[in-house]
Amino acid sequence: RQAQYRALRDKPCVTKDGCNIQLMMNAGLTIDLPHMVETGATGIGLFRTEMQFMVAPTMPRVSDQLALYRTVLNSADKRPVTFRTLDIGGDKVLPYMRNVEEENPALGWRAIRLGLDRPGLLRSQVRALLRAAGGRELRVMFPMIATVEEFDQAKKLVDLELTHLRRHGHALPERVHIGAMLEVPSLLFQLDELLERVDFLSVGSNDLMQFLYAADRGNTRVASRFDPLSAPVLRALKDIADKAQKHGKPVALCGEMASQPLGAMALAILGYRTMSLTPSAVGPVKALLLALDCKKGSEMLLPILAQPVGSVPIRARLEEFAQAE
Ligand code: PEP
Ligand code: MG
Repeated sequence: RQAQYRALRDKPCVTKDGCNIQLMMNAGLTIDLPHMVETGATGIGLFRTEMQFMVAPTMPRVSDQLALYRTVLNSADKRPVTFRTLDIGGDKVLPYMRNVEEENPALGWRAIRLGLDRPGLLRSQVRALLRAAGGRELRVMFPMIATVEEFDQAKKLVDLELTHLRRHGHALPERVHIGAMLEVPSLLFQLDELLERVDFLSVGSNDLMQFLYAADRGNTRVASRFDPLSAPVLRALKDIADKAQKHGKPVALCGEMASQPLGAMALAILGYRTMSLTPSAVGPVKALLLALDCKKGSEMLLPILAQPVGSVPIRARLEEFAQAE
């Protein structure tokens, strides 16, 4: 198996009917970087910047952040890297930061909420990102966006930092793509407004599923009651892909779902052309997608999603379909 996956490493991920799919990888520390070449991932679809903060004994300085981001961009060479701004707070407590006790940390003061309320930290991170990407493209996205106003505020902060760097004569990125993670269900009902604003979207299916089903993602007792390959989730994902296409904005998915071959197959069928995976999943997912006929898949899946929920066992149908491919 491993040898088979290695043989696919440099092969583009194109389905049988010609759909080109970018299989990128998730990363967060320099030790992850060699996986890009090893797996043939076409970029980093999610760089979790909080990792550097979580492994450090003290708050990383702007120069430490800048050095890491530069290393990441250098090692990716020309391949795209999407940096996610700090997703800390809630249960991701940093030993050197004052801990705020919360009843429901997953729903609490975390990620972009903390970033906008205490903008010093977010601004210095954005500054490090902009400087690291001087002369090249920067892709940055914000976690846990729940309202379009939050996205506007976060984007404004990037503009402020750009102005600041320009005034001080620093080399600026060639282009800055600013995106949002879609992981809070409130965004599902303001997709048009969101898509008008963003340069790209990336679905965080781990959190999106946790909040859609109100089931703690880390608690197997409740998390395993819900299947990502269920009509409510797949309908939501289809809606996102369709609306993104209508607005001409790229959409990716970077949650665990894309690392499951069957999940990735469903995503390709629904129209997702970029996914970001756990490095070890790139080979198995590519092997399945190379054998997939997206059009046949949508002829199978879309009618099922239009049926009353529960009338068709979706996972079983997808398994059958994958077997037959
Ligand atoms: C997600 O929520 O799906 C995601 C990719 O981000 P994280 O797992 O870091 O919350
Ligand atoms: Mg998340």
